Amino acid sequence: MSKAPGEFEIIRDYFARAPQGEGVALGIGDDCALLQAPVSGQLATSMDTLVAGRHFPAGADPFMLASRALRVNISDLAAMNARPLWFTLALTLPDSDSVWLEKFASGLLETAGKFGVSLVGGDTTAGPLSITIQVIGHTEKPLRRDGASVGDNIYVSGPLGAAAAALPVVLAERNVTESVRREAEQAFYFPEPQLETANAIAGIATSALDISDGLLGDLGHICKASGVAAEINLESLPIAPLANRLAADTAVELAACGGDDYQLCFTAPAAAVDQVRQLGFTPIGKLVEGGRRYIAPITGTPGLLNRQAIGTFKSLCRP
Ligand code: ADP
Ligand code: MG
Repeated sequence: MSKAPGEFEIIRDYFARAPQGEGVALGIGDDCALLQAPVSGQLATSMDTLVAGRHFPAGADPFMLASRALRVNISDLAAMNARPLWFTLALTLPDSDSVWLEKFASGLLETAGKFGVSLVGGDTTAGPLSITIQVIGHTEKPLRRDGASVGDNIYVSGPLGAAAAALPVVLAERNVTESVRREAEQAFYFPEPQLETANAIAGIATSALDISDGLLGDLGHICKASGVAAEINLESLPIAPLANRLAADTAVELAACGGDDYQLCFTAPAAAVDQVRQLGFTPIGKLVEGGRRYIAPITGTPGLLNRQAIGTFKSLCRP
């Protein structure tokens, strides 16, 4: 694609300095990167695009934006129990704003350093601001969505609802104190990919995914892939303190339906309940018969929660 004048040089200045870590035989600068694949196991790859005005506010802080863009991709690797190795970056920029680029590159390379993942290439084009990252990782014990069985317990790796509660603050739709705003930005822009949890549950868990769109909706993907249904006890959901503080009345709904927390949802056989408990996780529900349809009766609420009911429940989440 054509490039805006000067953009090519600027990008090279900002991104070619990326340190080249494990397995990088040849990094940025040639037609392709050359990567040394591990001798055993499998490579895992995933890609996410963030479009300004759709996935983030156009004026979002570039440092934080870069952090989030890379973290959500690494979260997909965590969900498969893959160790992050490499990533590429496709950047579409409306103009060559060197201040923006400097901050974006700092956020990106700092995050890359934290997770030990190397930027090995990309593409730079002119157009409406959009950020695409592709990650590649390595796994010996992949966690998939299709291995769950009736009777398995359901777990989440950590508290839910913080990012959804933070969203109005991040979008500047809600005024809060400086310290709460920082907490909200932390929850939304710095999600923690659950790499250690994935590693700890691999070999025990029968399925897993990362919660990007909300627990109930994402659990539906496990149900569909595994041909089971789910029963969740809403009262046992771990609710993020920030959700309780920012949205006490809707905290349970935010935890059940709100997205962007990037905790893992996983399942494990009932017989492994003590083993999983020792890792620090308590069941929030169990898998039941359900064929390929996703039906989730929620303990304590009357009736069945089917797709339509989840839609209704989700609409409750929106203040
Ligand atoms: P080509 O024209 O051969 O496709 P480019 O001019 O697009 O190559 O890129 C030259 C080199 O710079 C390649 O190694 C490419 O991977 C790298 N590159 C381009 N844009 C980026 C970017 N945004 N981040 C990282 N590397 C990039
Ligand atoms: Mg080329």
